[in-house]
Amino acid sequence: MKGEPLIVAIDGTSGVGKTTVARRLAVALDVPYLETGAMYRALGLKVDQLGVDPVNQSKVEELAADLDLELRREENGTVEVLLDGRHLGDRARQPRISEITSAISAYPRVRRIMVEHQRSFAESRGAVVEGRDIGTKVFPHTPYKFFLQAPLETRVRRRFKQLQESGQSNLSADELMREVGQRDERDSTRAESPLTLDSSYRVVDTGSRSIEEVVQVILEEIQQRLMKSPA
Ligand code: C5P
Repeated sequence: MKGEPLIVAIDGTSGVGKTTVARRLAVALDVPYLETGAMYRALGLKVDQLGVDPVNQSKVEELAADLDLELRREENGTVEVLLDGRHLGDRARQPRISEITSAISAYPRVRRIMVEHQRSFAESRGAVVEGRDIGTKVFPHTPYKFFLQAPLETRVRRRFKQLQESGQSNLSADELMREVGQRDERDSTRAESPLTLDSSYRVVDTGSRSIEEVVQVILEEIQQRLMKSPA
């Protein structure tokens, strides 16, 4: 492998399995794992804590510029996103915060700030980076781009189970289906850095494969490309 840091982009819709897959890939490749959704969720939490209206773009952008956000590499290789020096906690994953986060992550200045953090973290040491715009906007030059997809019903079933098990939501499966569907729609149609893909991605279906199989497919692809790349 050349001396450049290895950056693997994992993009896709909510509940498609990005987090589990990206975590395992990072361990296998011995690089940190960065969950960019948690960075946007940190801002969502702050907006909620301060009672700021998410449609107040200038106020939200101001908060983003002043946000006390830290990316701390833990001993086990994961990267914790800290807000005001503290872990985000389970609340960050609640549907209410997901909604706010999706709304505020459409703002250009918010995105610029988050992308700067993401680049300065990963460019020096490499990383498996998970999000919506990683291969299109954040690291468009990495050859390792994967777009995970699965049917909405499968994704909602998984997310519902997760939320139930951790006691974080009392939404019904139908309500969650609406929430996830609307969020995907908004993330995919916003003007700024929408969730999208192009021919430089390898699309991986996670609905018909186990997590182990998805990880294996991606590792094999990375290996093949590494072998092909000029020394
Ligand atoms: O990945 P996760 O579901 O935690 O992301 C929460 C929200 O953050 C997404 O619905 C999306 O609106 C936003 N996000 C984004 N760009 C990223 C990662 C997340 O806009 N790279």
